[in-house]
Amino acid sequence: MDNAARAAGRPPARLLAVSKTQPADAVAALAAQGQVAFGENYVQEAAGKIAALSSRGLEWHLIGHLQSNKAEQAAQLFDWVQTVDRPKLVGALARHRPAARGPLNVLIQVNIDDEASKHGCAPEAVEALAAAIAAEPALRLRGLMAIPAPFPERARRQAAFARMRALHEALAAAHPTADTLSMGMSSDFPDAIAGGATMVRVGTALFGARGARPT
Ligand SMILES: *Cc1c(COP(=O)(O)O)cnc(C)c1O
Repeated sequence: MDNAARAAGRPPARLLAVSKTQPADAVAALAAQGQVAFGENYVQEAAGKIAALSSRGLEWHLIGHLQSNKAEQAAQLFDWVQTVDRPKLVGALARHRPAARGPLNVLIQVNIDDEASKHGCAPEAVEALAAAIAAEPALRLRGLMAIPAPFPERARRQAAFARMRALHEALAAAHPTADTLSMGMSSDFPDAIAGGATMVRVGTALFGARGARPT
């Protein structure tokens, strides 16, 4: 990560350790080495780990699709929700955020390659969603998140990062709290950092291969 940032003349990016399917022990081992931010895809799976590790001062990010009926639990459990992609979720998260926990940090997920199979809003929808989030004192708009399509051509993947960077710069100009651009995973984080990512979400490169999703 540091090499990629230095080579591109970019500031260092933050590392989000993606711990989905990994047991709490594996999270604890990485936390003992100083890692603070962890990403989970499923509210139910995360609940157990967050409870088990509650004394360690970790920061938990939801990076999986959020169903509206899980918004209440997500607003209570997580420090960040990176997958806000529709107005209904904004209201539900704001309504259920416990005041004692302070504002919930949220990222707007953008479907940057317009894939039918992916969640996320259209780039054109970001502005209205950002305004809705900014109007909720229980939420803090922190920026954008994307999972670009795994095109075989590197130039097409880089083009998606560049479109995200432009969207993020426009958003940050209007909303100074939007300091985060979350993109890049194990296979592409150097290009993502060169392309403007301020946070990369890395799972297998840290923990090794994932097993099946725990039930
Ligand atoms: C699983 C996942 C990651 C991490 O993927 P790796 O290839 O294991 O690094 C990052 N972001 C999201 C949204 C994920 O679901």
